[in-house]
Amino acid sequence: MPEHATITRFAPSPTGLLHLGHAYSALFAEAEARRAGGRFLLRVEDIDQGRCRPEFSEAIYEDLAWLGLSWEEPVRVQSDHMSDYTGALDTLTKSELLYPCFCTRKEIQTEIAAAGHAPHMAPGGLDGPLYPGTCRHVDPQAAQDRINAGAPHALRLKMDIATARTGPLIWQDIGQGEQTAQPALFGDAVLARKDSLTSYHLSVTLDDHLQGVTVVTRGDDLFGATHLHRLLQALLDLDTPDYRHHKLITDADGKRFAKRDKAQTLQSFREAGKSPADVRALAGWRDET
Ligand code: GLU
Repeated sequence: MPEHATITRFAPSPTGLLHLGHAYSALFAEAEARRAGGRFLLRVEDIDQGRCRPEFSEAIYEDLAWLGLSWEEPVRVQSDHMSDYTGALDTLTKSELLYPCFCTRKEIQTEIAAAGHAPHMAPGGLDGPLYPGTCRHVDPQAAQDRINAGAPHALRLKMDIATARTGPLIWQDIGQGEQTAQPALFGDAVLARKDSLTSYHLSVTLDDHLQGVTVVTRGDDLFGATHLHRLLQALLDLDTPDYRHHKLITDADGKRFAKRDKAQTLQSFREAGKSPADVRALAGWRDET
């Protein structure tokens, strides 16, 4: 296989059963690799241990196989690779690009309200309101004392310093063309959450590099996240894949499918006697899509 072979992946989180939106996304990723004679990978994004369940991971394998998809083994299960993420965080800490943040969501809201203007949001509503910077001004020794005393804390990126270090960055969106990265839209983004040792942004970016993914396919809802992922690639010296964001499929009322819509899960269609071809059609999938 040539070194530049296309490698794509589908990367669901086992926080619920897969629905028609996931089916579309998985078929999209697989077709992208297949058309190019490349490889299709599966990754289970289970860093949020509070919301992920082993039975949902099992259901991912079962549902995708039923749908007729096959992927290359081994599947990368994020919770098995926490040291990769903490290693990347250590690199960023040594580069003085991170700081601990002890704020609760409530405290952040109060601080923003006190500033008297409407909160700025990260693109795609991904990360809540932009952080007002409260903990950035905490004396480092005082912060260390709080950490030593066991205070829960997140790790945030010093966005202005990070972007100044990398300079302007671009990425290629197959479909929408060359994009100028705008990571500053995220402000001082959380790279390690209080409740897990990493974050979606950090782990997904590192994993795509470690798995050699050459084309990241995912829904339009994650388009904005790519701005931040491009910055992380530059800071951590990672490869930059191409991106292809696909439309989000919706129900008859134009609403996106959600994990809570039990009736739209692949499992419930299967139990109701639908065939994989029926479900592909319900997801609006045509192989030339
Ligand atoms: N795990 C993410 C999700 O289920 C997708 C990650 C990605 O494709 O970048 O929404």
